[in-house]
Amino acid sequence: MRRSEDFGHRPMVSFTDGRALNRVCARCTISTLTGEWGVRWPCTSAVVLGLVRREEATP
Ligand SMILES: [Zn+2]
Repeated sequence: MRRSEDFGHRPMVSFTDGRALNRVCARCTISTLTGEWGVRWPCTSAVVLGLVRREEATP
């Protein structure tokens, strides 16, 4: 069985730029006083860690 070392990097649905709903990274998305700062999935770390298949990375 494959170990899944995602370090918390996993997709979830949230707002990006405080407006549009998109898939964002649960780990890289942070909450600030002005709202959530969503990082679009796949984030750079997910790609580097090999968490994202090539076909998933392409919109
Ligand atoms: Zn991430």
